[in-house]
Amino acid sequence: MARRRMIYEGKAKILYEGPEPGTLVQYFKDDTSAGDGAKKDVIEGKGVLNNRLSEYFMNGLNSIGVPTHFIRRLNMREQLVRSCEIIPLEVVVRNVAAGSISKRLGIDEGTPLPRPIIEFYYKDDALHDPMVSEEHITAFGWASQQDLDDIVALALRVNDFMSGTMLAVGIKLVDFKIEIGRIYDGDYMRLLVADEISPDSCRLWDIATGQKLDKDVFRRDLGSLSDAYSEVARRLGVLPPANAGKTGPKLVH
Ligand code: UDP
Repeated sequence: MARRRMIYEGKAKILYEGPEPGTLVQYFKDDTSAGDGAKKDVIEGKGVLNNRLSEYFMNGLNSIGVPTHFIRRLNMREQLVRSCEIIPLEVVVRNVAAGSISKRLGIDEGTPLPRPIIEFYYKDDALHDPMVSEEHITAFGWASQQDLDDIVALALRVNDFMSGTMLAVGIKLVDFKIEIGRIYDGDYMRLLVADEISPDSCRLWDIATGQKLDKDVFRRDLGSLSDAYSEVARRLGVLPPANAGKTGPKLVH
């Protein structure tokens, strides 16, 4: 069989040409990195978990009318997505202070914020993804003011959906990052949620114990990353319970 054409390889995912025009195959690797690639490891099974978790969140968003690039999961590590033009911004939404906002503004981690705060970072590894303002974004033409209004509305809807979904399984959504893509229908342009939504790009704290169930486990050497991600998947019903399969083979689909 002819090898698929690789379109792009990032730190945690690879994009291949899709089976139909306008589609891509998104492959989830086990590679994990933090601090702009300064800390790296391969966490066995991470890609499988993130493929499933991102499918779960994107399907949920699609079902409430928040447009995403997700079409369907293809197998353990791959999903079919709509090809889109990625806006070069990381859109971060914060509900509780943690990470860079705590450092930058001297706010204790865990302090609830007065309202969800949206921040934009310019996607450029060489520059370490600097924080930018709406002024920079519109002046340099990365997005228009109308796009930004739409991006803020999308980000807040994702926040409400994700906060509720996690709260239902005893997890606090502290913050998360999304990326936004554009698709064109003739002259008409639409924005959608692209990339992935997974514990790699969210901060998730157990409500009862405060235990971290996200990539901070890796960034801060707090234990097993795959145990943390499996716990999130198990609570959401994305993974079968730990003892499933003990009575005999089960169909995996
Ligand atoms: N985030 C991400 N990719 C990045 C930077 C941040 O997914 O390149 C996520 C991160 O996991 C967290 C949120 O965005 O959920 C806010 O991250 P923060 O600005 O606090 O930066 P960090 O402390 O992760 O460097």
